[in-house]
Amino acid sequence: CSATQDEVTKAKLAQPNKPTIFSKILDKTIPADILYEDEKCIAFSDVTPQAPVHFLVIPRKPIPGISEAHQEDEQLLGHLLLVAKKVALEKKLDNGYRLVINNGPDGSQSVYHLHIHVLGGRQMEWPPG
Ligand code: C5P
Repeated sequence: CSATQDEVTKAKLAQPNKPTIFSKILDKTIPADILYEDEKCIAFSDVTPQAPVHFLVIPRKPIPGISEAHQEDEQLLGHLLLVAKKVALEKKLDNGYRLVINNGPDGSQSVYHLHIHVLGGRQMEWPPG
């Protein structure tokens, strides 16, 4: 669909290693629907939801993507997953949900600040596009 194509186009144009829009969400210079925050991460609703529930969990540390996470980030990565499931529970996704991490151009990553997508509220298909 054209929304998917737009995402792919954005991903191809994205410039890794530059400050991203998510830095501005983190420092609250642009607004976001923040669902959860602590000293290590925040979760906020995706502005272009692809499911009835679609939010992102991002670390405060500006790791560009999962391919640039290192051993020292092990605890942080685990924390992000636990926050994802905690907020999914608060959103009443009792029947299941999907976590997605897009990485790099082939993964259709468009924002180079690591984020976990949490999608739910409808039946997910497989394989993803
Ligand atoms: O995984 P990918 O990098 O493609 O995902 C970036 C996500 O960030 C998109 O789902 C997009 O809708 C979302 N976004 C957002 N708020 C912004 C900019 C992008 O929720 N201001």
